[in-house]
Amino acid sequence: MALMNDLSSTPSPEGERPARQRKPDWIRVKAPVSKGYHETRKLMRELNLNTVCEEAACPNIGECWTKKHATVMILGDVCTRACAFCNVKTGMPRIVDPMEPENTAVAAAKMGLEHIVITSVDRDDLPDGGAGQFVKVIKALRRETPNTTIEILTPDFRGKMRPAVEAICEAGPDVYNHNLETVPRLYPTIRPGARYYASLRLLEEVKSHDPMIFTKSGIMLGLGEQRLEVHQVMDDMRTADIDFMTMGQYLQPTPKHAKVEDFVTPKAFDAFGAIARAKGFLQVASTPLTRSSYHAGDDFAEMRAAREAKLAKQAARQNA
Ligand code: SF4
Repeated sequence: MALMNDLSSTPSPEGERPARQRKPDWIRVKAPVSKGYHETRKLMRELNLNTVCEEAACPNIGECWTKKHATVMILGDVCTRACAFCNVKTGMPRIVDPMEPENTAVAAAKMGLEHIVITSVDRDDLPDGGAGQFVKVIKALRRETPNTTIEILTPDFRGKMRPAVEAICEAGPDVYNHNLETVPRLYPTIRPGARYYASLRLLEEVKSHDPMIFTKSGIMLGLGEQRLEVHQVMDDMRTADIDFMTMGQYLQPTPKHAKVEDFVTPKAFDAFGAIARAKGFLQVASTPLTRSSYHAGDDFAEMRAAREAKLAKQAARQNA
């Protein structure tokens, strides 16, 4: 198994690796204790909203919630899949909360969000995979907080992808994110219910439906992937015209989940980021603590500016 702790590192013998590696210093984060954190938590409880920040045990929760950035997880807190990296509960989900779209919009308004990220559990049990609820949430946000830009992070809508993507794109999110999560070789163990090329196709479908919607996707590093496999994922993403790539360190939520094969160094993350930028993404986030929604608002603003600059350059070239 190749190591990515440093781009020039060589693998250490399998037997020398402890079962559960100690987190390096660059992964340590402050405990969530601030007033802003508690206010965000209270608001989410009052509105009966779930967040991926809590359900996925995100290490950034202290920082994000202090700034009143939370990623709302719609369609309940029980997922119909059982991915080896994910901390969200698996089982038979409850009925969909009809108040969720309105409550999400109320939360965005109360937190004064300029940019909101909405994600969901997988709902393979629903005829539309949950796409209708995404549409309702986007519409409620447009109605209640028209200046908030909207980023959605959806499942793959297995078996019903086309109508789901079409309905969501019609509702007009600003950013459509769907994570590839890992390199294709690791799908059978890490993301067994999903297909790598189906996820890529979903993102292509978004662009063919509406080229103005920004597309975004990410992978976790530290699951045993090799450097060239990561480069191949970047190329696949560029072929699918994905605008924004994220890379962050995988952390094992509990001993039952897939183990961390490597803690990738910040230097190696920088190197991957530089390669991704050279491959032509409009925006790249690549640090150990990067998550899909980490600093999503600032990154969105930068990505929009990058697109405007690119379009202006193209127009100037045409007029020359
Ligand atoms: S990075 Fe995303 S999931 Fe993690 S706490 Fe921040 S907003 Fe929540």
